[in-house]
Amino acid sequence: KKERLSTSEILDIRKTKYGPSCMLFFEQAPLRIERGSGQYMFDEEGTRYIDCINNVAHVGHSHPRVTEAAVKQMKQLYTNNRYLHDNLPRLVEKITQTMPTDLSVCYFTNSGSEANDLALQLTRMFRHRHDIITLDNAYHGTVTSLQQINPYKWKQVEKETSDMYRSQWVHVVPAPDSYRGKYRDDEYTMEELTDLYVQEVQHVVDDLRGQGRAPAALILESMQSCGGQIIYPLGYLKGIKRIMDECGGLIIADEVQVGFGRVGDHWWAFQQYGADFVPDIVTIGKPMGNGHPVAAVVTTKEISQSFKLPYFNTYGGNPVSCAIALAVLEVIETDGLMENAKIVGNYLMDQMRELASRHQCIGDVRGRGLFCGMDLVLDRTTREPATELAKYIVGKLRYDGVILSRDGPHENVLKFKPPMCFSKQDVDEVITKIDKLLYEF
Ligand code: PMP
Repeated sequence: KKERLSTSEILDIRKTKYGPSCMLFFEQAPLRIERGSGQYMFDEEGTRYIDCINNVAHVGHSHPRVTEAAVKQMKQLYTNNRYLHDNLPRLVEKITQTMPTDLSVCYFTNSGSEANDLALQLTRMFRHRHDIITLDNAYHGTVTSLQQINPYKWKQVEKETSDMYRSQWVHVVPAPDSYRGKYRDDEYTMEELTDLYVQEVQHVVDDLRGQGRAPAALILESMQSCGGQIIYPLGYLKGIKRIMDECGGLIIADEVQVGFGRVGDHWWAFQQYGADFVPDIVTIGKPMGNGHPVAAVVTTKEISQSFKLPYFNTYGGNPVSCAIALAVLEVIETDGLMENAKIVGNYLMDQMRELASRHQCIGDVRGRGLFCGMDLVLDRTTREPATELAKYIVGKLRYDGVILSRDGPHENVLKFKPPMCFSKQDVDEVITKIDKLLYEF
């Protein structure tokens, strides 16, 4: 029996016998990563890559304490959560301690998609309503209910395909992107544009009211990731919360990408918009298991009590997943990763701004903690997206030991969301390489 498959064998099987929907990173020269450690990955030849994008390997690739916790619990017991075990209540306590007091009830699932789907079910059951408001360019997961609220995905396919996922219950509002959204900061003051984006939600609610309907919920990420690293104007969330409160709709904050201390100052990204903004439901995932599939829904007692459907999730809340999530939470604290995200994130922002002072093609630099983006433009006035340039940089960096990605509706935003142990040296190395490429292009 052969020990290893050749790269062409892997590619062949992936091409012919694996669902073709998943695009590889670097389709022309896919990487064969064999090992990960901290913020680095290593390919088959031992070449090191700085990982600027893996927000799942939150506390660092293959963190020994997380791996240890997994192995220890695997060796001892795996069962479903219909038996009593310490790990589940311990994790519930730990997570709810990081949240505002009202968010006191958890459900454990295996993926962000399951968490968001359950969140939608909870909101729909709460007031027996069906309509959902979603932001343009949003991505919330893979299952049917979420493909119906994923404008990000609809745009990537032919209309005929996206139409299959359009639903009369789903209403799209513009993403509050002050740089290249419907209302921009070169035309309006921040106050004006915040108001205009909030009004867009009001219009949908008014429209629905005219038809004798009201939304069950508005779902949004606390910062929009796939949409191009968008940080909302400060008053936006409070503005839409007021509207939703008035019409009895709920707010779901999707923290699947941006949670677990990534913003540095807070455990959860929604907390940066003020202590008086509290969503009704928060969904969390990806970083929660540092690579192991575990996710959760956190909500209020009242909402959880209105959910009448018996809910049993075979793997959700099992002792192994809980042990892993507990280890992740512990490592965030013991390794000081939130503080690191703040320090290194600020440093990265400074370095990106310095780069922008020398390169006209950097139109905007934005971020919080280790969630940052660099919006590349052809023209600073028109803000026309520099998609080809972004593609060039990401493609070149791949050969220079850096994994970076680009996103947003125009795929022109360089996107940083690295493991939380990312260092200033990593920033220096990556920025120097981008600087060089920008001069070369
Ligand atoms: N919400 C957001 C914001 C995400 O980015 C993702 C995954 N990219 C999901 C939900 C879905 O999570 P999963 O892939 O774990 O189902």
